[in-house]
Amino acid sequence: MNRTALDELKQQIPLLEYLQAHGWKQARPIGFGRFLGLCPLHPDHKPSLLVDPRKNLFHCYGCRRGGDVIRFAELYHQVEFPQAVALLREWRGVAPLLHEVERFYRVQLHRHGEAVDYLHQRGIRSPELIEHMRIGYAPGRCLRGWLTQLGYSLPVLRQAGLVTAAGYDAHIHRVVFPLEGNLYGRSISPSAPPHRFLIGSKGGLYCWEQARLYPEVILVEGLFDYAILWQAGFYNVTCSLGTQLNARQWRQLCDGPRTVYVAFDADPNGSGQQAAQCLLLTLSQRGVTTRLVSLPDGHDPNSFFVQGGDAPQFQSLLEAALP
Ligand SMILES: [Zn+2]
Repeated sequence: MNRTALDELKQQIPLLEYLQAHGWKQARPIGFGRFLGLCPLHPDHKPSLLVDPRKNLFHCYGCRRGGDVIRFAELYHQVEFPQAVALLREWRGVAPLLHEVERFYRVQLHRHGEAVDYLHQRGIRSPELIEHMRIGYAPGRCLRGWLTQLGYSLPVLRQAGLVTAAGYDAHIHRVVFPLEGNLYGRSISPSAPPHRFLIGSKGGLYCWEQARLYPEVILVEGLFDYAILWQAGFYNVTCSLGTQLNARQWRQLCDGPRTVYVAFDADPNGSGQQAAQCLLLTLSQRGVTTRLVSLPDGHDPNSFFVQGGDAPQFQSLLEAALP
């Protein structure tokens, strides 16, 4: 591998992203966009690993080691330089694969009336929204053939969770939404389990880079809630993909001063509201201002709009939300 190819590899794998994907938790920002956290390269009890995402470099004040993402992979996996490069290239490989999948499924959406009908049922009509969320459709029984034709081997597809052990497409009759390093599929047939993710983490908060710019953020639990609010002009919305936040999502939500409006499902058994209460408590303990949005009984933000609610009415719910 020549110098240019190495530089390209390093550019394609941001060090911070690689660290986080390997479970690294930053303890605190320390200015100039840098972070400090426990060092995974030596037994560490007080944060001594400094990461500079802009320079894509790390340095540990404890074990006195530092460098770029390749150096980190060498030390972390305890391999020589060529193996570290090979591991990083393999790791990077999943991203282009998911990109192909996304492209393929987006074409399918427009070829399958049943998928578009389903989106309409859930109130989703705007082409800008479909573009923004990169919504696609997985008809089933066609992805494997397409990717094999592109040169991806069956073991690679199985490992990514795109193809089942028996060799079938994992997502069948599902409207699909690309996530960071994952793909969420919502079944359009009532007989199948509604939600399906690929193996691996669901990633951070949905479209957080956009939502975090606002001083007030609306947090919803499902992507169809996100979609309907975004379509109605609430661009300060984000989604946790379920009522339980993972460590990365917690960090994101608490990464600066803001007010979080929690608009979880008002399901009849109260589980969404219970989860919301827990969330509010934890957030306020971490110094985040919170509001609980109270939807009419049995509603989630999606059904609120589908059954006739509009943006001004939702705005009134936000204004009436209690701490
Ligand atoms: Zn160290």
